[in-house]
Amino acid sequence: VLERKNKQATTALHASEERYRSIVENALEGIFRSTPTEGFIDVNPTLVQMLGYDSKEEVLALNLEKDLYADPQDQQYMLDQHRSKEAVRNLEVTWKKENGEHIIVSLNSQAIYDAQGQFLFYEGLVQDVTERKRTEDALRDYVERLETLRGIDRAIIRAQSPREIAQAALRCIRRLVPCIGACLVTLDFEAKQATLLAIDADGESGIREKDRYLSLEALGDSARVVEELRQGELCVLANDLDHSQLPQRIQALWTKEMHAVLGVPLTFQETLIGFLALGVERTDALNDTHVEITQEVADQLAVAIQNARLLEAERRRGAELEAALARQEELDSLKNEFIQNVSHELRSPLALIRGYAEILADGELGELQQEQQKPIKTIVRRSRMLSDLVEDITLILGAETRPLEQMPLSPDEVARTAVEDFRVAVDQAGLKLQAEIVPGLPPVSGSLTYLRRVMDNLLSNAIKFTSEGGTITVRAWQEGKQVALEVQDSGIGIPAEQLERIFERFYQVDGSARRRYGGVGLGLALVKEIVSLHGGQVTVTSQVDEGSTFTITLPICEG
Ligand code: ADP
Repeated sequence: VLERKNKQATTALHASEERYRSIVENALEGIFRSTPTEGFIDVNPTLVQMLGYDSKEEVLALNLEKDLYADPQDQQYMLDQHRSKEAVRNLEVTWKKENGEHIIVSLNSQAIYDAQGQFLFYEGLVQDVTERKRTEDALRDYVERLETLRGIDRAIIRAQSPREIAQAALRCIRRLVPCIGACLVTLDFEAKQATLLAIDADGESGIREKDRYLSLEALGDSARVVEELRQGELCVLANDLDHSQLPQRIQALWTKEMHAVLGVPLTFQETLIGFLALGVERTDALNDTHVEITQEVADQLAVAIQNARLLEAERRRGAELEAALARQEELDSLKNEFIQNVSHELRSPLALIRGYAEILADGELGELQQEQQKPIKTIVRRSRMLSDLVEDITLILGAETRPLEQMPLSPDEVARTAVEDFRVAVDQAGLKLQAEIVPGLPPVSGSLTYLRRVMDNLLSNAIKFTSEGGTITVRAWQEGKQVALEVQDSGIGIPAEQLERIFERFYQVDGSARRRYGGVGLGLALVKEIVSLHGGQVTVTSQVDEGSTFTITLPICEG
């Protein structure tokens, strides 16, 4: 019975061993047994295949330290792990295949002991994760690349000047491309000048301001790179760069191990505006991806630098304009002050001259002789013109500084007085004067002196710019809550494109041709300023050779 039982047990054990063997033989993972001294003592076919050997015997004969582990420290680490923890979980190490190729494997193993607690061997499971690692690495690279490019973007947005942009970009690119040194140079072919915008980002402090500017010729050996880029090369990999032929300033900053350079153009609207140069030991330190990244960064940089340049130029212009404006304002106020002083000084003597001349002309100081009359009249007329001018100047400058007096005034009376005052002058000019004034118009509020000045100026312009035989019409009427005062003439008219400008101070329609009319171009400016001080508006319609109509509207005063 015992024997039968024993036999049964042996058969069962055999069956179980058979099943185990079959699992091991057919497993998709590599399975091994090993000892620290003998290396592998058993491996399954998957592991043999994973390592690229033809037979199990070859694998069992391997010296693990020399033939299997790419890095012997990995094996040491694995043994240490076992000693302290007995089991190794998901340890990633690099193994060498039969053909020398490297694979990355993930190891799980543990120590096996017999019933007496004696160490037998390690038993382990091996998974080839090379492909997965590669994908992961590629993904990580890709994410890092995106991150860095975004970092450059952010830095560019924050940067204030082309130089800051360049520094930020160099700092970022060195995280992606394994270069020893980097520099960014802008080129100005017209001025035959190159500017070292940034070198090596961190070595920045080593460069003096005046050392940033080089003539194109001084670029030495790199001029060759520039020439090739100018021919439209997408990038230049120069292996034989002669160190001694580089500009001294670059030589001093770039390390001696740098024997090759990758030059990538910065182009804006198809013109070469600079280049990005990365220094490497040998050109084979760079792969296609590195070159691609460098080009991407260079494209980004070109646009950003160009924009920053434009912005800088714009800012400079803005500051210049501001300074010019401030100076202009200062001159303006000096001029106003001067004019005010001069007119103040002119006023009293002029009033005296005019007064005495008028008394003389009236014959109050004795009858004038025939030949005296004309000159005296000229004195009267001219001194009147002069005091009018001084009056205009004083008013226009005074209106800027003094508040307007507010009196209720009758607009039709203002119009009628103006007609009366000018009747003689109109007559003398051989013109006809018509009045269409609605009587009893509601009052407006303001200053009589100022409103008279307005009518005076409009009427004297009408006389001045209308030739003999013409007609001048003065109108006054009510229009809703406003009254209108109008002076129309049948004179030379004003070209449409000048209509806006005649209200500017000192503006005269083609000054030279009309110089014969006299005046300084202040009248209408004064009209406009006075009218707007009264809360009203002045408009003009005109037709060349047919005449002009100036209309003023003033608000009727409440109460
Ligand atoms: P001034 O008469 O002293 O030159 P104004 O400011 O009164 O200055 O007028 C500005 C300019 O507008 C005049 O030089 C003239 O060319 C034009 N102008 C003004 N009024 C008339 C008008 N009634 N007919 C034609 N041109 C006029």
